[in-house]
Amino acid sequence: MKEQKTMILIINCGSSSLKYQLYNPDLTEVAAKGLIARIGESGSYTEHQAGQMRARECRPVADHKAAFDVMVGNLMHSDLAVVDDARAITAIGHRAVHGGDVFMDSTLVTDTVLEELHACARFAPLHNPCNIAGIEECRRRFPGVPNVVVFDTAFHQSVPREAHVYALPYELYSECGIRRYGFHGTSCRYVSKAAADILNRPLEDLDMVICHLGNGVTLDAVKQGRSVDTSIGFGTFCGIPMGTRSGDFDPAIIFHLVKERGMSLEEVEALCYEKSGLLGISGFSNDMREVVEQAEAGDDRCALAVDIFVYQIKKTIGAYAAAMDGLDALVFTAGIGENSKEIRSRVCAGLGVLGVRIDERLNSMVRNGYPNISAANASVATLVVPTDEERMIALDTFRLVSGETRVPPPIAALEPTYAERV
Ligand code: AMP
Repeated sequence: MKEQKTMILIINCGSSSLKYQLYNPDLTEVAAKGLIARIGESGSYTEHQAGQMRARECRPVADHKAAFDVMVGNLMHSDLAVVDDARAITAIGHRAVHGGDVFMDSTLVTDTVLEELHACARFAPLHNPCNIAGIEECRRRFPGVPNVVVFDTAFHQSVPREAHVYALPYELYSECGIRRYGFHGTSCRYVSKAAADILNRPLEDLDMVICHLGNGVTLDAVKQGRSVDTSIGFGTFCGIPMGTRSGDFDPAIIFHLVKERGMSLEEVEALCYEKSGLLGISGFSNDMREVVEQAEAGDDRCALAVDIFVYQIKKTIGAYAAAMDGLDALVFTAGIGENSKEIRSRVCAGLGVLGVRIDERLNSMVRNGYPNISAANASVATLVVPTDEERMIALDTFRLVSGETRVPPPIAALEPTYAERV
């Protein structure tokens, strides 16, 4: 017989996936989590985990409504159900990609908030509509339950004007909202606070560079707890090269491709978002593990892809140290940042000029729970901190629904199960 509890549900509704986590109300435990992947595509599957028990099933999932049916079935009616019915869910937190320059913080969802979120969809046409669909589905299925929305862009609203306004005609900024917005803000906010906790110092005393190195990449300058510059800009392909996204390049290349090579704008867009980055240079894979392996096996283009990745990160760390007038901590997170000692080592090599020095023995021991990899003679702390965007969303949901700002104790998190982070 299941014990009936009240829970906080976290939803990350993407274009072809739905991820969920169910926390107990004081956020000390993730009771269950799951993923419905390849929604509306061939090969849809669902994964669900409760405690140590895991289930994976391949089944057609036609659309997002069907995906929510699967989620509810997993949580409430399956062999691994953790609650009896929908009444157990007391609050729902949602990830949203783009909050424009309207949302500086997470917020409780109201009709007005939804209208503003719809308006922001012009900046994230692939993501915001799915995020909105997830919120609307939850409002229908769980009437009366408060929904909170947490924006990837909100943390970067503190970036000052000189760093977020492009030197284009000013009206494009003031009238059309064309500016640097940044992404991965939920991750950077979580990781910067966790880094301060590890260092046992107030966040307000620290200048940090957060290296969120995953399939998507953000470098973020966090001065005294506030984001003051960030590598992604208006679109999500700029900054550091990513799995399939180009990172920064000279926009004159776009004119050249359109005028001289006869490419359509749609083709150029696909080139920037889907055919560039690690994949474009290596011609082999968008997956850093595979690219590093091939580079070590002697593949020159894979080696170049890694070289470009490392170089752009190093250069940006230096720029952000200058922008903040100093650096106290360098923090690695996300798939590559957390798992690749080679990339961390190569990024840090030569940053002694800033005071960054790592201990290679500690760098190899991160997986055994050693987050601080700084050498004894370093003046900058170098840390490896696992990101947890869902927990950050849960913390904000807790704060906004309960009105309490107290930080709940650490959770007994479930082990990661998914090879695929969507
Ligand atoms: P994320 O988007 O945070 O899930 O990160 C995905 C990226 O992390 C992919 O490029 C993976 O290849 C990369 N990754 C995961 N583990 C490793 C590893 N041990 N070495 C290098 N890259 C890794």
